[in-house]
This record gives sequence, structure tokens and C-alpha cells, in this order.
Amino acid sequence: MKALIVIDYTNDFIATNGALTCGTVGQNIEHAIASLVKEFQANQDFIVFATDKHEKQDKYHPENKLFPPHNIVGTTGRHFYGELDVLAQDVNIYKMDKRRYSSFAGTDLDSRLRERSITEIHLCGVCTDICVLHTAIEGYNLGYDIVVHKLAVASFDDVGHHYALKHLEHVIGAKVI
Ligand code: ZN
Repeated sequence: MKALIVIDYTNDFIATNGALTCGTVGQNIEHAIASLVKEFQANQDFIVFATDKHEKQDKYHPENKLFPPHNIVGTTGRHFYGELDVLAQDVNIYKMDKRRYSSFAGTDLDSRLRERSITEIHLCGVCTDICVLHTAIEGYNLGYDIVVHKLAVASFDDVGHHYALKHLEHVIGAKVI
């Protein structure tokens, strides 16, 4: 069984005025992600939207010293971007919060996947070299087969994007398609 994991496709990471935006490269993958969601919906496969969640004035979060505030709970910055916000209305899509780059870190994602006998996870979203990469690494360590959709991932850092795709393919053994 397989699952699709859509990572961090929110206004703050994608919209032109987002707090930590990938900009155009992020906006350009909207339709590729939407197509994947529709394909997985049609096959009744498990779909997960894994989304970074920050609380205002959380002084303990390690990202505070790395990035400006983003994806604050209750703000429009944390809403899904574009067509994904419409697709997210599907109640069968599992919407989950995460507090670290990896979608597995401190979440119940592994249990949700195992309950459904899922062995292969398909990744898309942003950023290729941060949350997508960290999710892939943890998924690899947990024994999942990883598939990364290269036309449905993006990063503000072009060098990091290409490095991550190479690392995913040659070190994690992911299928990059
Ligand atoms: Zn964050």
C-alpha cells in the first residue's frame, strides 16, 4: 500500500507575501501537487497533509534563531496555498501538524501508516532540502520505500534543491520520478 504526503504547502511557504516563501518556484508546483492529490483520491489511497505549526512567542522552538516567525497557528499564513486549500476540504485527507522538519518527528504518522499496511510513501511539497529531505531520511530509517516527485517539490535554495534530489536518489535510495 502507498500514501501521499504533501509537506508544508502553505501561504507562508508559497505565497508571494509569505513569511518564509519559496516564491515562484514554489507556486510553479501547485498543479503538480494537486494532480497527485487527485490521483491518490481516485485510487482511494491514504493522503496526508503534514504542516509545520508554530505558536506565537514559543521561546523554546529551535527554529526561532534560524528563521523569522512563520506558520503561526490561527493565521492565514498557515492556510494551504491555492488549489490545495480547496482540496484540503476532503475529510478523508489526514491533516496533521508537525513541530520539526521531519513529518515523523513527535507525530503519529508512523502509526497511521502502519495501521494501513503502507510501505511506500510518496513525497511532495516544500522545501526539497529541508522538510522533504528530513521526512525522507526518517522514513528511510523506519523502513519505508520512498518516492519523491521531482516536479512537485521545490526550494528557495536552488543548490540545496538539486543536492537534496541527488542525496535522496543515491543515499536514501529513493525513487525520484
Ligand atoms: Zn517552522
